[in-house]
Amino acid sequence: MMQEVANWGNYPVTNSNIFSPTNVEELRTIVLEKKHLIARGNGRCYGDSSLAKNIVSTLGLTKVIHFDKENGTLACESGILLKAILELIVPFGYFLPVTPGTKLITLGGAFSSNIHGKNHHVDGCFSNFVTSIKLLDEFGEIHDLMPTDELFKKTAGGMGKTGIIVSIEFQLKKIETSYIKLRTIQAKNYAEVIQLMESNKNSTYSVAWIDCLASNKNMGRSVLLLGEHATLDDLPTAISDPLEVHKKAKFSLFFYFPTFILNNLFVRIFNFLYYHKSIQSTSKIVHYDSYFFPLDIVNNWNRIYGKKGFLEYQMVFPKNHAEIGIKRALELLTNYNSASFLSVIKAFGDKSPTDYLNYPIEGITLGLDLKISKRVWSLLDELDVLVAEYGGKTYLAKDARINKINFEKQYPKDFKSSIFQSHQMQRIRQIHQNVLLVLGANSDIAKAYVLKFLSKSTNSYVVMASRNQVEIEDFIQVNELQGKAHFQFFDAEKLESHNVLVSSLEEFKPTEIMYAAGFCPTNDACFNSIEITHKMVHVNYLGPISILNALVEDDNPFLKRIIGITSIAGVRGRKSNFMYGSTKSGFISYLFGLSQQLKERGVVVQSIAPGSVKTKMTAHLKLPFFASSPEEVANIIYSQRKKFQVYPSFIWSCIALLVRFAPRVIVSKLQ
Ligand SMILES: Cc1cc2nc3c(=O)[nH]c(=O)nc-3n(C[C@H](O)[C@H](O)[C@H](O)COP(=O)(O)OP(=O)(O)OC[C@H]3O[C@@H](n4cnc5c(N)ncnc54)[C@H](O)[C@@H]3O)c2cc1C
Repeated sequence: MMQEVANWGNYPVTNSNIFSPTNVEELRTIVLEKKHLIARGNGRCYGDSSLAKNIVSTLGLTKVIHFDKENGTLACESGILLKAILELIVPFGYFLPVTPGTKLITLGGAFSSNIHGKNHHVDGCFSNFVTSIKLLDEFGEIHDLMPTDELFKKTAGGMGKTGIIVSIEFQLKKIETSYIKLRTIQAKNYAEVIQLMESNKNSTYSVAWIDCLASNKNMGRSVLLLGEHATLDDLPTAISDPLEVHKKAKFSLFFYFPTFILNNLFVRIFNFLYYHKSIQSTSKIVHYDSYFFPLDIVNNWNRIYGKKGFLEYQMVFPKNHAEIGIKRALELLTNYNSASFLSVIKAFGDKSPTDYLNYPIEGITLGLDLKISKRVWSLLDELDVLVAEYGGKTYLAKDARINKINFEKQYPKDFKSSIFQSHQMQRIRQIHQNVLLVLGANSDIAKAYVLKFLSKSTNSYVVMASRNQVEIEDFIQVNELQGKAHFQFFDAEKLESHNVLVSSLEEFKPTEIMYAAGFCPTNDACFNSIEITHKMVHVNYLGPISILNALVEDDNPFLKRIIGITSIAGVRGRKSNFMYGSTKSGFISYLFGLSQQLKERGVVVQSIAPGSVKTKMTAHLKLPFFASSPEEVANIIYSQRKKFQVYPSFIWSCIALLVRFAPRVIVSKLQ
C-alpha cells in the first residue's frame, strides 16, 4: 500500500511503496522484482535523497556481525542506528570515528552520504575509516568491496545510486571516557571565527554556531565549540561511570508548530540570548551526547518549522574563497531578510575523497535551516549560483531542490543511471522545470497549446509525440522551437510501444501531459467497417488508457496535470454520432476516476470538451458561428487549471448542460 513519506525537512512529501526486508534474501527478492527503487535508512537526510516511488527501508537489517574488542573493529548490517552502535561500543571504551549532529542515522546512511563530523579538519569523512562493505547490485549480486575498489569509491557519498549496502566494517576510535573537554570561544564576526578555527586546527573537534541575522561589524558573530575526548584524569570525582552511554530523548513534539511562531523576531531574540549567554572563553566537561547530539534531546524537533516543513542548505567554499564566499552568503540572507534558526559553520580539511558525489572539500562549510516560504526558493537559487561562482558545493544529503544546471556546475556529470534512483537523482537529471508531453501533437488544438505553453515561461520544454514526424518537425522549424521542443514517435493504436515512449522520457519527465489524439468517423463508417470501429476505439479510448496508465505508473514525482481532450459528444449518446461519442464517454469516465485516484499525489486531471473547433479535422463541416478557434481553446486550457470538466466558452457550457439534462425528444433532434 502507498504511504506518505517525508524526510527530516518534511519537504517534499511523497506517496511511496515501502518494502521492509529483514534479511538479505528478502532484500534481494525485492530488488529483483522492482524496476526502480532507492534505499532508505532513517530518513535523516533532509530532502528527497531517500525518496522514490519504491523505497527499501533498511531498518530491519540491524545485526551486529562482529565486534573485535581487541582491535576496535566493528561490522554491522547497514540498517543499524549509530545510537545502537554507541550503546554497544562506548562501555568497551570505543567511539565512532566520525559522527554527524544526530545519532539517529543508520550505518548505511552514514556511508552513502559519506558523512563528516566536527573532526573533518583532522580526520576526514566516515569512509576514511571503513575497511570493507557488502553491496547488493541490481542483479541481486553481492559485491565485497575494499577501499581501493572503484565501486567502493562511487558508493561512498554515492547517495544510494550504486545499490543497497548490506553491511559495513569499520575502525572505531579508542576513548578513555565518554566525556568531552569543551572549550567555548566567542567570535565577533564571521572573519574572526574563520581565523579562530584556523588557529585551533589542532583541536580534534571544532564547530561554531553562527548568528545569521547579525549585521554590519557583527555579521556572522559566532560561538566556537572546541572539543577533546576527556581522559580519566580530566574527569571530576563526581562522575562515577566514566563510560556512561547517552540517555533517551527527554522531550517529544507531538504536533507541528504554527508557521508564524518561528519568525525573524523569535530567531533574533534566541540568537541574542545564545550569543550573550556564552562567556568570552570558557572550559568544562560535558557528556558526548550534549556535545555531539544536542538536538536529539527532543524527538521530532523538526516540527517547530510547521507542517510545510523547511529546507536545510549546506554549502562549502574552498579555502582560497572561503571568507568572501561566507560573507556574500550572509549578505544574501540579509538582503532576503531570511532568518536561519540553526546555522553552523565549520572548517573542512583535505583528508577525504572529493571525487564522484562526495561533498567536503578543504574550506569552510556553512549550514542553514530555512522555513519554507515564497522567497526562500529564489534565495537558494541565488546561493547555488554564488556557491558555483567560488568553486564550492552544496551537500546533497540536505538538498531538496537543486536543478540540473546548478548541480552540474558543482559536481561531475551524473554517472550511469541505474534502477537505484531517488527523486533527487531524477530531479537532477531534468533539463527543464516545466515539461509538457503532448500525445497526438499533430492536432491543431495541441499545436496551439504548445505555443501558448512555451510563450509563458522560459524554462519550459515540449515533447511532441505523434505518428507524423515530418509535420511535427516542420511545425518546430516554422515556429523556431528548436531547443524548446522535439518530436517523439507515438501511435495510440500500438499499445505495445507505449512503455518505450515512457522510458524515452528519462530527462524529460512531464509536469503536464495532454492527450489530444482523436479519430471521429461517422456512424455509417463504423457500421460498414469493423477496422474503422477498431481504430476509433483504439485512438479515443484504449490508446489513452494504455499510455496514461503507463505514464502514471512511472515514478515521476514532477507530474502535476493531465489534460484529456474529450468531446461534448461524450456527455450523452446522440443519434448523429453515438459511435464516436461512446468512446469519448468512456474516456471521460476514465479521466474522472483518474482525477480521484491522483488527488492524493497532487495531480490535477481534467477533461476539456472543446465543442466545435475550426480545425483541419472539421474543415469539411459547416460549423456554428460560435465555433472556437484552436487558440481560444488553448487559452482556456492554459487558464482553467482546477475544474474537472472544462468548456471553451459559456455557450458551450450551456450546450453541454442541454445535452446532458434535456428530455430525450429534444436531444434526439440535436445535431
Ligand atoms: C539533526 C541532523 C544533523 C545532521 N548532521 C550532519 C552532520 O553533521 N554531518 C553530516 O554529514 N550529515 C549530517 N546530517 C545528515 C545525515 O547524517 C545524512 O543525511 C545521513 O545520510 C542520514 O542517514 P539515514 O540513515 O537517515 O539515511 P536516509 O536519510 O534515509 O538516506 C540518506 C541517503 O543514504 C542512502 N542510503 C541509506 N541507507 C542506504 C543503504 N543501506 N544502501 C545504500 N544507500 C543507502 C539513501 O538512498 C539516501 O541517498 C544530519 C542530519 C540531521 C537530521
